[in-house]
Order: sequence, then structure tokens, then C-alpha cells
Amino acid sequence: MRPIHVIGGGLAGSEAAWQIASRGIPVVLHEMRPVRTTAAHKTDGFAELVCSNSFRSDDCGTNAIGLLHEEMRRLGSLVMRAGDAHQLPAGGALAVDRDGFSAAVTAALAAHPLIDIRREEIAALPLEDWDSVIVATGPLTSPALAASIRAATGEDALAFFDAIAPIVHRDSIDMSIAWLQSRYDKAGPGGSGADYINCPMTREQYEAFVDTLLAGDKVAFHDWEAATPYFDGCLPIEVMAERGRETLRHGPMKPFGLTNPRAPQEKAYAVVQLRQDNRLGTLYNMVGFQTKLKHGEQVRIFRTMITGCEGYVESAAVGLLAGRFAAAERLGENITLPPPTTAHGALLGHITGGHIETIDAGPRSFQPMNVNFGLFPPLTRVPTRGPQGERLRGAAKTIAKKRALTERALADLAQWTAGGHAAAAE
Ligand SMILES: Cc1cc2nc3c(=O)[nH]c(=O)nc-3n(C[C@H](O)[C@H](O)[C@H](O)COP(=O)(O)OP(=O)(O)OC[C@H]3O[C@@H](n4cnc5c(N)ncnc54)[C@H](O)[C@@H]3O)c2cc1C
Repeated sequence: MRPIHVIGGGLAGSEAAWQIASRGIPVVLHEMRPVRTTAAHKTDGFAELVCSNSFRSDDCGTNAIGLLHEEMRRLGSLVMRAGDAHQLPAGGALAVDRDGFSAAVTAALAAHPLIDIRREEIAALPLEDWDSVIVATGPLTSPALAASIRAATGEDALAFFDAIAPIVHRDSIDMSIAWLQSRYDKAGPGGSGADYINCPMTREQYEAFVDTLLAGDKVAFHDWEAATPYFDGCLPIEVMAERGRETLRHGPMKPFGLTNPRAPQEKAYAVVQLRQDNRLGTLYNMVGFQTKLKHGEQVRIFRTMITGCEGYVESAAVGLLAGRFAAAERLGENITLPPPTTAHGALLGHITGGHIETIDAGPRSFQPMNVNFGLFPPLTRVPTRGPQGERLRGAAKTIAKKRALTERALADLAQWTAGGHAAAAE
């Protein structure tokens, strides 16, 4: 049987190669380290963790990343098997011994009779005689291959170096204060004239916000990032605030063309606009609020509004799916996608279509994202009562909702795997 080629032996590529080989199909895994390295990797091991050693929460009952862990275990993930075997004490999180973890992934791949490891840089998009290829070279793809991908896809913004704008859950927004309206009621292509959620600020609130922002703790640059200039159309808000106290009020927070229907005579001093970010309408991004503030600081400063970006586990999960799909294709099987109610399906949906490209000709705002419950279709029935029939309120209600989401996900995953997508055999 002809092999499937996987380029890149990071979190995604290692998992993809494992899934393919587990279906009895030969794989050629091309990894450029140690022949050539990246600015962040330090070893020649597969699935090297370039920064933190945490896979985040392992709570599969009420946490979306914990649910993703559990789904991956049930799908025979090598990354999760090695992570579990090299776990370190970290409370409810799954932290791993990075060397032991990477060594375990490397050993499993090297020992598999169907995996042929080649230490070489692939400098251009796959050769014509490779009929099935997964490109998993990650955020630090070597420059030559990145140029080749850019030339083939016509995409000139492959890397997400820009600061990232926070995303907020729709149901965390207090709509008794905010209102729906597009600036100057412009409908634009595909819009309705009321596509943005507007959060007003008084002068005192704005001044206090600018003070907190200037004092906020920023993410430190890596050496290789420090020399890269900001794209001027995408300046972090704290950099804008440093340029002058009024800059934000004349930029992304300008109050013009907006009227609060509850107080039409009162003009807000500044306005934070939120734009729908996924087709489900469960996530909204803060328009023009790209930032290099540390995540904890974002939560503190933006308080009622937040989620994040990509991640190790998400990368491995997407590699897992790519491997299974490539294997199914090679075996002539039908490819059925994981249900959108599972963590795998929710991630896939976000990457391939759930995200709204632009409303009102606004700037493109797609961001890779950590898995979170905002990516899941809402429940048709939200639990309102506990096991004793008591009415649920506050935190108890939120936990019950998350439990219902995870139970639905695992039940739907079981149905999906029963339909032929069984866990990878060892
Ligand atoms: C500096 C940095 C820090 C990060 N920190 C975290 C964190 O703390 N927590 C978190 O959850 N996520 C973090 N991420 C985000 C992301 O989840 C990780 O980068 C993750 O490793 C991505 O998985 P991947 O498999 O796509 O890429 P990688 O794990 O980077 O794997 C890609 C592999 O492809 C190889 N490669 C590249 N080009 C070629 C080529 N032309 N030919 C052959 N091989 C090639 C590389 O050597 C590498 O082994 C970080 C990202 C970066 C850049």
C-alpha cells in the first residue's frame, strides 16, 4: 500500500502519524529537527512542548478542554497516552514531564513498524508522486515551506503573529446595559444594521479603563519576536493607549454613529463594540481590542468578557482527525465528521466554517482558538432543576449546563465511533 506522508513531527503530526499507522497504513513522517531547528524548539524529540508543560484542566465533567482530553483518550490518542503516563502533580490540571512525554511519543513512533521517520526539511509543497499528504508544520513552519504554502494558497497572512483580540461568550453580556446596533445603522453586505453589541462607557469609566490598561502586565516577547514590527492596522490596544489617552476614544472605542435606545439623549463617552464571531452566535469578539496583555490581566481588566486562542491539545486533536480522515480515504471508506456536539466536532466546525468571515466589510478577525463551550451548539433543554428537584441558580446552574454539554458530547462520540470510527488500535 502507498504510504501517507506527514510533514512535521510536533503535537499534530505525531498524533496524525500514529492514527494512520494504527489503521494498518504505512506512514512517512518527515521532521526537520535536528537537521534544522525552529526559534522555539530545543530538542530533536517528537511532540516537544515549546513553552508551558500544561495540557490545562483534566476535568471532563465541566470543562471543554478536559472533555477534549477524554474524547482523545477514547479515540486512542498517543499524545494523551504519553501525557497520562508522564503526569506531574498539578491539581485539576494535566501537567506533564516534558522530556518524559516527548521521549514516550518518540519511542512509540520509532517502534511502530509502519512508521518510517525521515529527519529532513521539506522545503516546498509536496512532490507530485505523494498522493496523500498532511502538512503539520505548525506555527513555526520553516520559511521555505511557508513561502511555498503562501504561493500555493494565495494567503499572505499565514502566521498569527498579530496580537489577539479577546472573544466573549454571548450569554456573559449584560443586555440590560448593552444594545444591538451597527454604526450609523449601516446594514452592509450580509448585515442587518444591528449587527454589533455596543457596551457604553461614561467618562469616569473610560479614564479608569485607560489607567488600568497602561498598568496591565504584558506578555514578554521572545527574542525572535522583539524585532518584528506591529502591523499598523492591528496595534494592541495598550500600545494605542500609550500613544495618548484619547487615542482609543477616537479609534476602536469611538462613540459616533451609535444611539442607546434606552437613553437616546445621552451620548456615551466611549463604546466597546462586540461583533459576532461564530455562526452559532454564541461568541463575540471585541472589535479592535487585540492585545498583548497576559491572559490573567485580560480577565481582570475586561472582566465580564473573555476566552483565548489555540493550544497543544487542540493541535494534537486536529492532527488526530486529519490522520483518521487520511486513513479512511486511503482505505476507500466514507469519511463521517465527528458530530458538532463533541469537542472534536466543535473545533473542526470553528476552523472550517463556523467562524463568520466579516460583517459590514469589517476586518477579518479569525483567530485560532482554545476549545471552549462557546463553540458547541447550545443545548435544546437547559437543566433548571437538580437531582432532588431543587431549582438551580447561579454557579450550580452553570455547572449543570456544562455537565449536560459534556454528557451529550460523550454520548454522541460513542455513536460516532460505533459507526466505524473505533479507537486506534495499538
Ligand atoms: C513560542 C510558542 C509558545 C507556545 N506555547 C504554548 C503553550 O504554552 N501552551 C499551548 O497549549 N500552546 C502553546 N503554543 C501554541 C501551539 O499549541 C503549539 O505551538 C503546538 O506545538 C502546535 O502544534 P503543531 O503540531 O501544529 O506544531 P509544532 O508542535 O510546532 O510541530 C511542528 C513540527 O514541524 C517541524 N517542521 C517545521 N517546518 C518543517 C519543514 N519544512 N519540514 C519538516 N519539518 C518541519 C518542526 O520542527 C516541528 O517539530 C505555543 C506556540 C508558540 C509558537
